[in-house]
Amino acid sequence: MTSDGRPIHVLHPGFWNQEPGPDFRDAVLQLGGGTPSVGDVEIDVNAGGWEGHGHAGNPAYARVVLQVIWETGSRRVDRPVLALKSVLDSPLGELGPWLDDEAAETLPSSTPGRCCGPLRSVPADATTGLLDQAAACRLERKVAEFTARARHLGWEPVLWEALFSALGYKHNVWPMRRLAELMRPASAPGREAVDVLEARLLGLAGLLPADLPPGPAARHARLLWDIWWRERDAWSELILPPTVWRRAGIRPANHPQRRLALAARWLASGDLVDRLERSFLRNDDDPISPAKLARQLMPEDGGGNESGGFWCHHWTFRSAIPFHPVPLLGPARATDLAINAILPWLIARARTGRDPDLAGRLEQQWFEWPTGQDNADLRFARRRLWAGNPNGIRWTAARQQGLLQIRRDFCQPAGALCSDCRFPDLVENVRLENHSGDSKESRGGKNRE
Ligand code: SF4
Repeated sequence: MTSDGRPIHVLHPGFWNQEPGPDFRDAVLQLGGGTPSVGDVEIDVNAGGWEGHGHAGNPAYARVVLQVIWETGSRRVDRPVLALKSVLDSPLGELGPWLDDEAAETLPSSTPGRCCGPLRSVPADATTGLLDQAAACRLERKVAEFTARARHLGWEPVLWEALFSALGYKHNVWPMRRLAELMRPASAPGREAVDVLEARLLGLAGLLPADLPPGPAARHARLLWDIWWRERDAWSELILPPTVWRRAGIRPANHPQRRLALAARWLASGDLVDRLERSFLRNDDDPISPAKLARQLMPEDGGGNESGGFWCHHWTFRSAIPFHPVPLLGPARATDLAINAILPWLIARARTGRDPDLAGRLEQQWFEWPTGQDNADLRFARRRLWAGNPNGIRWTAARQQGLLQIRRDFCQPAGALCSDCRFPDLVENVRLENHSGDSKESRGGKNRE
């Protein structure tokens, strides 16, 4: 019962969220016998945690349909609240360690979806075929999007938008893309020094810190501020509010300050797009590979050696890298840039230039590119589809993309209850086709015998 006396039916508890935001996402609850609603569930010790933790007014919590707390206090709240103390046997002191140590193993898992059973009954190569089809679909969408956008903007701005978006990682795609739009006039070859571009990008992003303790970070910020003071008025109406950036839960290596420092170096080089074209569109003898692409993308002062610039020794302005210098671009980010931006852009260029052989070679590279970094979205999708890690699949970056596409096309519209999802039928068809193929083969074998 909620604290105001309405019965609650949990049709699906939602998915335990390991990232910032409400504790469970996409629960399906029926409150007071009304129509079931889909939304998030937040867990706090008491109802005041809602204001105390800043959830009120935070858009990330706008979908919360239930706050679960330990015990109700005297204050009245106008949202559905479920208090647990009076209905559980254990005191809070016992529940804490249990939740930390064993809960994940002992709770019945509500994550696997309806397709989990059918997927177990198809062989790994058929599953791989499904992933490849989904990956091809994702690639085609990207190529079509780039081609359509290039008709309006030209090819170079489209690549900058894609590169900036990929640097935004999952949570900061839109502010990054906005910066690419704002920097468009400045991306002409060889126009400006790296400090000028870094100051402008960080200034426009609203990410240039004002008060830092004395040290290398304060000196570097001061250098950039000296440039940005002179430009700021001209850009004042376009500066992004700091609230557009999501920083909670982002690893220091993916901090937007660091990503913008890398983008400033690409822009300052003045010829990144030209180099990519020369290396991978006009050079038949030099197919694109992870190592070659990494060489093209790594800025001169960003290689992570002792003499590297400020950003090789600092994750952000406020956190230094404690041990060895770290390059501005690591293999995981390079893979992300290749798969989501550079290869689809090159394929679109090759197709538009009516060079099917080159387009085919680039597509093959896209499909064979080594895996990118595992992430929460991929782990979640594997738990939904296979209740863990599937056996026998040779993963590539494209197959990871295929899995994300299945999640987007099937899981997101269907919700936690897999309502009306057609994917299990699709898997079943694959199983039947595979089975009939096996039978024909074995009949053929018998006949030959
Ligand atoms: S929504 Fe569809 S694809 Fe996603 S887990 Fe459920 S059955 Fe599988």
